[in-house]
Amino acid sequence: MNDEKLKRILDELDRLFPDARCELNYSNPLELLIAVMLSAQTTDASVNKLTETLFQKYRSVEDYASAPLSQLEQDLKRIGLYRNKAKNVKAMAQMLIDEFNGEVPANHDALQTLPGVGRKTANVVISEGFGYPAIAVDTHVERIAKRLGLAFKKDSVLTVEKKLMKKIPKERWIKTHHQLIFFGRYHCKAINPQCQDCRLIDICREPKRKHYLS
Ligand code: SF4
Repeated sequence: MNDEKLKRILDELDRLFPDARCELNYSNPLELLIAVMLSAQTTDASVNKLTETLFQKYRSVEDYASAPLSQLEQDLKRIGLYRNKAKNVKAMAQMLIDEFNGEVPANHDALQTLPGVGRKTANVVISEGFGYPAIAVDTHVERIAKRLGLAFKKDSVLTVEKKLMKKIPKERWIKTHHQLIFFGRYHCKAINPQCQDCRLIDICREPKRKHYLS
């Protein structure tokens, strides 16, 4: 990947998605953390539908920590993996109370000590919630990075993250992270990428694009 190709990718992301942003609804770091935890293998739209009422009912870490697990499961029942998510949210809230004075820590390593919080979730929370530069690699970001040659197909998620951080200017990490997600969600979809309209087709490595190359 040379500088010229990278510039073309970043310019195209700017052209297509100048206002890309987090599509989860939240009003404070706790709500953001919970929304991201709930979004695993679930669309942001489904999470937003659920949290519209959930965030009215549960307003503090104490509310989540003290809720009976069966009640929390009931309240999360409309989304996938709800049993596991309920268990993690309750345990996470209790740990915030026990070890972080009831606050969501603005620290990547500390976030990852919380139940149900992995590297991707921690990256989203520190960048979206606290404004620290980070690139969270979800399924869209990984797929796009590999299709566009920003990473190799065999690379692990962590390697993809490191390569993106090395190649993309730090001041663009947060913005580009959102743009890659939008690009994957609305343009370069997993099953039916819009190769016929894609201005990056000549630098793409995805075999499906060949159908559209003359
Ligand atoms: Fe995605 Fe197709 Fe564009 Fe490649 S050519 S980046 S697969 S939309």
